[in-house]
Amino acid sequence: MRWKKGRRSQNIDDRRGQTVRRGAGIGGGAIVIALLAAVFFGQNPATILEQLGGMGATTSQVPAQRQSAASDEAADFVSVVLADTEDVWNQLFAQRGSRYRAPQLVLYSGATSTDACGLGQAAAGPFYCPGDYKLYIDLSFLNELKRLGAPGDFAFAYVVAHEVGHHVQNLAGTASEVRQAQARSSKAGQNALQVKMELQADCYAGVWAHHAHRERQILEKGDVEEGLAAAASVGDDRLQKAAGRRVHPESFTHGSSEQRSRWFYAGLESGNLEVCDTFS
Ligand SMILES: [Zn+2]
Repeated sequence: MRWKKGRRSQNIDDRRGQTVRRGAGIGGGAIVIALLAAVFFGQNPATILEQLGGMGATTSQVPAQRQSAASDEAADFVSVVLADTEDVWNQLFAQRGSRYRAPQLVLYSGATSTDACGLGQAAAGPFYCPGDYKLYIDLSFLNELKRLGAPGDFAFAYVVAHEVGHHVQNLAGTASEVRQAQARSSKAGQNALQVKMELQADCYAGVWAHHAHRERQILEKGDVEEGLAAAASVGDDRLQKAAGRRVHPESFTHGSSEQRSRWFYAGLESGNLEVCDTFS
């Protein structure tokens, strides 16, 4: 991906090297319960801890440690990708007569407190918190992508653009509609809706790449394949297999590898938001 000359985003909150101090009120027992619940119900332990009452986790103002050159380059890269999504989504929202409110992106290492989603932990992978309009990324996920068989800069750009896709769903009201529909659904129905959300975010990542390439020629040979490989590598079937579990489609919350790369490609090829209606 050609990115070095790209604009850097003003919306990066760099918390790398800061440590999280856990506040009073949550003991070790509660954390164990939250982790067990996370294993059995597939929920985010941070969400459960929050439900157990008063996270009280605060990010202490320890002076940031020096970062490695590799981490700094990755941070610089994320800043360029984020800025590019701002440019594309600004334009796409303006074309529809509305204004894009850009998200903040928090870079952290290990764990960080969020405003509305409890404790953010690197083990959960990159995530978007709808309650505070922020993306949270621990750059160690780059190594995870390599381990899953999706190395390369554009693979990581896809991950950032996917999380921005969730932000777009939040702004568009899709996220809250889906949460309401989920409240009326069975467990299987809730999962099916979650899959549709994820596939739409993949499609939106593709829409971003389409416009970024048309305006700024960011894609190099092999990038599309990298993006498709990244989308496939985080498919639930592949992740379940990698975790040594049998593949259970009804428990999918992100979609299969084939579905994820197909929707990413649909957005990439067309650049058209209408194509990303994964719900009908
Ligand atoms: Zn997602």
